[in-house]
Amino acid sequence: MSRILIVEDEKKIARFLELELSHEGYEVLTAGDGRTGLETALREQPDLIVLDLMLPELSGIEVCRRLRHESDVPIIMLTAKDDVSDKVMGLDMGADDYMTKPFAIEELLARIRVGLKKHRDGASGAPASVLKAGQLTLDPSSYAVSFDGQPISLTKKEFDLLHYLMLHKGQAVTRDALLSDVWGYDYAGDTNVVDVYIRYLRHKIDDVFGIRTIQTIRAVGYMFIYE
Ligand code: CA
Repeated sequence: MSRILIVEDEKKIARFLELELSHEGYEVLTAGDGRTGLETALREQPDLIVLDLMLPELSGIEVCRRLRHESDVPIIMLTAKDDVSDKVMGLDMGADDYMTKPFAIEELLARIRVGLKKHRDGASGAPASVLKAGQLTLDPSSYAVSFDGQPISLTKKEFDLLHYLMLHKGQAVTRDALLSDVWGYDYAGDTNVVDVYIRYLRHKIDDVFGIRTIQTIRAVGYMFIYE
């Protein structure tokens, strides 16, 4: 049985989620503020966390950031704000997914299943091999990226995106494919999150080392071209 931690200060929502998730057969833990949420997550090691963004004591973003030092548990962020910068910040801090309130419970349940499955698949898979393009090296087992031996600090999502692009070197990949394969589902209409992350990668790699790694393919998406 999978254990899910709900970190949500709005009691009605927390109670509703607890009932729905229990009904689905999950074991449910709850925490009503960010600090308790973080402590519970570290102590109980749940299989997935549903984390509200706006929380007393410690914000959802901060909980996420601190948790990521210790754990790669799937995190679905709940946000009341339909604001791309909030979502991007949440994803940047290591959340795997987010939902804007109000949401349909069926959709949250679907994303929980995706999150749990991705995590399981990732944990049981064979170790992924080190990728090289020119002087750029990416090691999936240690989440390390370097250029000519110099380490490049990437967030989890930047790393996943670069990993995916490098695996598809020389192939044009669409924004939709990136969203579904890197972010895990269809973000319907919100593809600018991909563009934002491509900018981050270019800023951290191309601008710093004076190379060109990712080409924009007009009206399609992106292609990793560096070799
Ligand atoms: Ca809240």
